[in-house]
Amino acid sequence: MICKKCGSQNIQAIANTHGKIKKRGCLMTLVHIFLTIMTLGLWIIVPLIRGGSKGKITTTTDFICMNCGTKQ
Ligand SMILES: [Zn+2]
Repeated sequence: MICKKCGSQNIQAIANTHGKIKKRGCLMTLVHIFLTIMTLGLWIIVPLIRGGSKGKITTTTDFICMNCGTKQ
């Protein structure tokens, strides 16, 4: 990998982990059960798609030039 700005090969990969971890409270659990019953179990699909109470965490890799500091 070569830097776009200065052409240096001194590129370092930096991993960025970001995201929100949601904790489902007691009230939300009751609402969830209620909605599950009301929608005849359709609502149960939603946390399966969203990954439950774990939240969405995304990891991206940034390449930064050690010569000039430009993000690749
Ligand atoms: Zn550079």
